Order: sequence, then C-alpha cells, then structure tokens
Amino acid sequence: MGLEGRELTGAEDFANCLHLFEIHRTCFMKTTWMLAGLTLALTTQAQTFIGSGHVDIGIGYEDKAFDLHVHQEDPFEQEFAPGEAVFAVGSAAAGVSPGGAFSSFLGPAGTPIWTLPATANESLPYLGFGTEELTAADWAGNLSLSLKAVSGPGNFSVWSVNGFGAPELRMSTANGISADDRLLLVPGSHGHLNVGFSAPGDYLVTLEASGTHLVDGLRISDPATYRFQVIPEPSTWALALTGAAVVALTLRRQRNSGKQLGHD
Ligand SMILES: [Zn+2]
Repeated sequence: MGLEGRELTGAEDFANCLHLFEIHRTCFMKTTWMLAGLTLALTTQAQTFIGSGHVDIGIGYEDKAFDLHVHQEDPFEQEFAPGEAVFAVGSAAAGVSPGGAFSSFLGPAGTPIWTLPATANESLPYLGFGTEELTAADWAGNLSLSLKAVSGPGNFSVWSVNGFGAPELRMSTANGISADDRLLLVPGSHGHLNVGFSAPGDYLVTLEASGTHLVDGLRISDPATYRFQVIPEPSTWALALTGAAVVALTLRRQRNSGKQLGHD
C-alpha cells in the first residue's frame, strides 16, 4: 500500500522522513563509494571494492601450490584473486598514533594514521588472515606470510596489541622490509590484526606464503599483490583541520590572556 490517499499523522510523517533520510544517507554513501570505485575503474578493470564486512586474506593449498586469495564473508561468501578486490579504507579508519611504543612504526603521538582495526567496525572492512582451508596435520609448524613489497604514499604496518596494551609489530615498511616482516600463521586457523597506513592513497602490498608440507616439502607461493585504497573524507578532514585550528587559536588566546594578567 502506498502512503497516498490519506493524511499522515505526525508520527508517520516523522518515521517517513527518517526512512527517507536513511535512504538518502545510504544513497549518498553508495555514491561516495561508487565515485571512488569509478576513479579506480579508470586505472584498472574488474575490481570489486570492499568497504565493509568480514573479509580475509585467505591461504589455500591446491595441486602442490599455495593459493592466495581474498575470501569475503559479508554480505555473502565469495572469493577473489588478490588483484580483483580492493580494500576500501574509509574515513572511519582515520585516527592518530598513540605514541610511546607505537612511535617506532606509527610515528610520534598525534601522527595521522588510518587503521583497519583488529576488532570489527561496521564502517570498515573487517580484515583478517585465514588458513582454515588447510589441514593442520599436513603441515610441519607454522606458515609464514611474508611482506615482499609495498608501493604507496606512506607506510604500511600490521600489528597486534597484547594484554598489557603494548604493540606487537608483525610487519611494517617504517624501517624498510626484511625477512622479519612476516606473520606466522597456524595452519587451519584464522585471526585479525590491525592494519595501518600513514597516508591516504592507493597501496599495493605484495605478500608471499611459505610452509613445509609433510609430503610435498617446503612450498613457497607466487607473490600475491593486494590492493588498498585509503580515502580521507574531505568534509571530515576539513572539520578535523578546523578543529585543530580552533584548538591552536584557543591555546594562543589563553597564553596571551595569561600574559596580560601577569602584566596587570
Ligand atoms: Zn576473518
């Protein structure tokens, strides 16, 4: 039934407005993502933009070879080759380095950072690393997922935070890339880590899996390049900058008024 033909009550009208607002907001968000996707489509083809939901970098093993892919769980299960999916790191990822022990890879306290967090945030891809497709009994020890190369406008880092709130760095380009830049993954497992970027823009992240199969021996995957697009939302960004300016101005005023008081 349509809403035409009778007058709406205030409550219905309000509910209707809210509904329309939701639709507009959704459209707006979709348009934003579509525009971002369009920009991407100009440079590359056949890519799916993943801006939210549970998604894992998956490691399978078929015909004596590792198979690195993207396993999307929401809104429905589907798999992509690494280059076919783009992880969209939206404005909800924007934050700042907490400093301290995080400074070595995220910069001093207050340094901007865009993070896909290890805990789910509905506005961001919930990115994990999965080896569930492997049979644990087929493998000797852990698998390594090694960082081989990153191209992008800033640093790329992957870390967890331990029970004491201290970072455990798994990989980062902040001090170059070495054999230490790797994740150790238990075959048949699945987990989520913090994935951070120090600047907005496009990143290509090349990973390589290796492990010792009990029958096939040491296996090393072909390099697989994953794509991330870190997008600052201009309005949020402008607000943040305005906020910073206001804080700076307030501090200066306080300092000045303090001086004046001293002179009086
Ligand atoms: Zn996951």
